[in-house]
Amino acid sequence: MRLPAFAKTLRFKLTLWYVAIIILFGALFLVAVNLAMQQSVTGPPVFLSHPMAASQTPTEIYRLVRSTQLGLLRNYSLIGFAGLVVIGAVGGHFLSGRMLKPVDRVSSLAARISSTNLKERIGYEGPDDEIKRLADTFDDMLERLESAFEAQKQFIQDASHELRTPIAIAQTNIEVVEMEERPGARDYKRLIEVLKLSLDRMSKLSDNLLLLSEGGNDRSRWSVVDMSAVLDEVVEEAYAQAAAAHISLELERPSEGMHIMGDPLSMKQAVLNLVDNAVKYNRRGGWVKVSARSEHPLVIVQVEDSGGGISETDQQRVFDRFYRVDKSRSRAQGGSGLGLAIVRKIVEDHGGLVSVHSTLGEGSSFRIALPHHTPV
Ligand code: ADP
Repeated sequence: MRLPAFAKTLRFKLTLWYVAIIILFGALFLVAVNLAMQQSVTGPPVFLSHPMAASQTPTEIYRLVRSTQLGLLRNYSLIGFAGLVVIGAVGGHFLSGRMLKPVDRVSSLAARISSTNLKERIGYEGPDDEIKRLADTFDDMLERLESAFEAQKQFIQDASHELRTPIAIAQTNIEVVEMEERPGARDYKRLIEVLKLSLDRMSKLSDNLLLLSEGGNDRSRWSVVDMSAVLDEVVEEAYAQAAAAHISLELERPSEGMHIMGDPLSMKQAVLNLVDNAVKYNRRGGWVKVSARSEHPLVIVQVEDSGGGISETDQQRVFDRFYRVDKSRSRAQGGSGLGLAIVRKIVEDHGGLVSVHSTLGEGSSFRIALPHHTPV
């Protein structure tokens, strides 16, 4: 027979145990007091031993009998009550110890698991009660902690790898000049160019790492943001870059304001990253279209391009940190593989979602959906 969920809880079991104890010892107590009283009634009358018993009137004798019986009842009740307290304390101690034993097991297992040993799990196998739920929640938490630690480790490895590349380039070029017997002005000039590029890459990487960690979380910078104005600024800023790559940049937005609540600077950064990619990964003579519309309760910003597109497998990963589809093309364009990860972080910090639709060879379309802000 399947027990209902509440019948499996510790709370229910404890209640049942306590009711059983109360019924058992309450009944024993009543029987004991009754037996004792019966004994005193059937045995030789106690009051007859009273020194004044012989010289009393019937009414006084009746009073004497009553007070003697009452006194007996009080004594037996007190003894019984003391007995019940002792039994209750011993029973409670034993019962709670029995019930809380699994908690002890869970807590000693939990104490064994440290930040360096996140692989262990409690794996509690027992009835589906509060303890099991506690242990399962703890295991879930460990699972999340472990993957967060792993992700952090991977992030540090990727970031140091990214930093190592420009450092290695700079070191090699310095060594080459050092090996020259008489380096000339041209050698130094070339070295300075390389060092400048390497420093530029490192400073861009550190800016991006900072952007990624900040996202749009700093609420002190939040205000009502008009997304139409943000798009105007982005397109104005990206115009020269697009023109240099012979790409036409078009903006389509409604005339009325579309407002969201957030950090205007990081919002601009998110859209700028998308437009920057749309230009970078485009073909010569291609186009980029930036548009915005209101789909209540959302504000939708879309960046479409006529570039080479992204395969379905890569679409799943382009928002991951340091992920690049074409590493050499990205590096050649000064990319660090963090642009889309920054977009996702900023958009999600604003309670929104970013997605990509793309067909290889036909171009891509990135879409940001943000909650509309309606003034109160
Ligand atoms: P990166 O610094 O390399 O540009 P991003 O995180 O911005 O890093 O983008 C990740 C990868 O996604 C890029 O390396 C590129 O291969 C691909 N990608 C991003 N945007 C586009 C786009 N509009 N068209 C084609 N590929 C793109």
